[in-house]
Amino acid sequence: MVIRAPRTVVGMCALCRSDAELQNSHFVPAALFKSVIQACSPYAEAPVMVDVIENSAVQINAQFSKHLLCSSCEGRFSQNGEDHVISNTVRNNGEFRLRDALKSTERSLSNNGRSIFLGGELPPELRATAYYYFFVSILWRASVTDWPGATGVKKGCLGAKYQEMFRRYLLGEFNRLPKVSVRVHVNFDTDPDIFLTVPTHAKVIFENFKVNRYSFYMPGICFVAHVGGNLPTHKLDGISAQTSCPIFIESHLKGTELRRRLAEDVARAIPKGKLARAD
Ligand SMILES: [Zn+2]
Repeated sequence: MVIRAPRTVVGMCALCRSDAELQNSHFVPAALFKSVIQACSPYAEAPVMVDVIENSAVQINAQFSKHLLCSSCEGRFSQNGEDHVISNTVRNNGEFRLRDALKSTERSLSNNGRSIFLGGELPPELRATAYYYFFVSILWRASVTDWPGATGVKKGCLGAKYQEMFRRYLLGEFNRLPKVSVRVHVNFDTDPDIFLTVPTHAKVIFENFKVNRYSFYMPGICFVAHVGGNLPTHKLDGISAQTSCPIFIESHLKGTELRRRLAEDVARAIPKGKLARAD
């Protein structure tokens, strides 16, 4: 057996732009894959990441990673978003702290019986802005470089202007991202599905404005961001964009058309990587 020393790569960190030893940075946090693998154990029976565009199910540990960020920027992502978001999503023992916290919190308003929470009105310990920061960091990663195999998003998918604004927001140079709203759809079902999807991007007409819409499913949560356009300030997405704080929305996947479509995608998906090799 040959044991190789870990390769050291020195280069410019894509976020802070300083020359540094670059870490093996993940597009989608490794901890998320781990939680999905654990929840789906034995994981050979369950796709870990479903790519609804390529129709494939991928069990990934090492894919979607490259030398991109320095260690302090990796730490910034962890502390400002990832650690909090991932520890509050569905665990393999069924615990789902974000859902339970929202259920015991007074809602801001309701729509067709569903609860809606404005992030700015939630108790500070729920750290609403961590969810905004987290999704912004995923989208910036999607845009700043190529991630071969991730077909839902392409390098440059934010456009040069927003990519640079996102970078400076993530660095803490400013604390607002005008014209960027984030919705956090929280699955209130008692037994939410555990899966990940590759983030996707589409240009849509929303509230009569042309905007870019980005979506990403992770266990228990679906993130949706609208970027660009002039979202009306009195509407939910306008409030999110004005405050750079997400809106949390009660959602139910069970029995919905979306759930049925996702289940079909999972069933149709062609296993790749380790899944394809598993007996
Ligand atoms: Zn850096």
